[in-house]
Amino acid sequence: TLKMAKSSFEYVKNFEIDDTLIPNTWIVVRIDGKCFHKFSDDHDFTKPNDLRAIKLMNYAAFTVIKEFNDLLMAYGQSDEYSFIFKKDSKLYKRRAAKLLTTINSKFSSTYVYYWSKFFGEQRLKYPPTFDGRIVLYPSEENLIDYMKWRQADVHINNLYNTTFWTLVLEGKLSPMQAEKRLCGTLSADKNEILFSEFNINYNNEPEIFRRGTLLLRKMVLDSCNDKLKTLIVDTHCDMLKNKFWEEHACLLSLKSSQQKLMYKGPITE
Ligand code: ATP
Ligand code: ATP
Ligand code: MG
Ligand code: MG
Ligand code: MG
Ligand code: MG
Repeated sequence: TLKMAKSSFEYVKNFEIDDTLIPNTWIVVRIDGKCFHKFSDDHDFTKPNDLRAIKLMNYAAFTVIKEFNDLLMAYGQSDEYSFIFKKDSKLYKRRAAKLLTTINSKFSSTYVYYWSKFFGEQRLKYPPTFDGRIVLYPSEENLIDYMKWRQADVHINNLYNTTFWTLVLEGKLSPMQAEKRLCGTLSADKNEILFSEFNINYNNEPEIFRRGTLLLRKMVLDSCNDKLKTLIVDTHCDMLKNKFWEEHACLLSLKSSQQKLMYKGPITE
């Protein structure tokens, strides 16, 4: 392609600022739907958890991981997704804006492009918006605590939402009454309400709702040719347990050379 000739205007390029991220740190990109409280209402999401919406989010994240080899994993819950780059990633020379905008844009356009794959006839009424941020974590401990923090968040919210919507839909309370009922309650109280009044054992609720989705690369033996291949799989592990991180220590340091990526097709639960 032709290089643009130097012009007297070119000095304006110098106004661009250097946003190179410091080396040797895990780059976490987190995106979150804008006003998804309203978006979910407008699109009749099942309360408290719409499985179609969760699967669409997971599929969009899957598409992102597929495109960027330097991504170790991604974790999603509600209207957010976190993407974790390997520590020594040099993608886009670690330029923050490039990384953030490319990931966000790929995710957003995939969300829209594949809407009907998950919502069928139900129309997408307007284009959704996602915001995004980048956070750097310097130690394994910090990164693991980040993952735990996001999963603890889904735990707290989902227990609340599950109890709230059970009180409304089955207990016939008004949303206001349900909110009042739950005001000041601890986790144990909510578990007790669900169990004693509605015969629901919260621990039996689907893992995908209670724990969110962790997408990770998994090496498997291809039975056809006996070669190793990498799959992207969706899991709903308990990351709050240290045991998980002991068993998945390799997650934090996966080498790109290992990653001869195979397409597994639409991810399933
Ligand atoms: P990068 O990812 O670095 O931005 P790029 O391939 O997008 O790489 P650009 O410098 O952004 O490179 O150039 C965009 C290119 O897209 C143009 O060179 C041209 O080939 C093509 N393009 C964009 N808009 C049009 C258009 N309206 N008609 C024809 N070609 C277009
Ligand atoms: P903001 O723009 O500040 O992010 P928000 O309305 O998106 O505002 P969040 O805290 O991000 O607020 O919460 C997302 C909301 O989207 C949830 O509270 C819930 O109402 C809704 N939501 C997201 N995913 C689902 C889903 N799978 N099923 C049902 N509701 C969902
Ligand atoms: Mg949001
Ligand atoms: Mg959110
Ligand atoms: Mg360019
Ligand atoms: Mg371009």
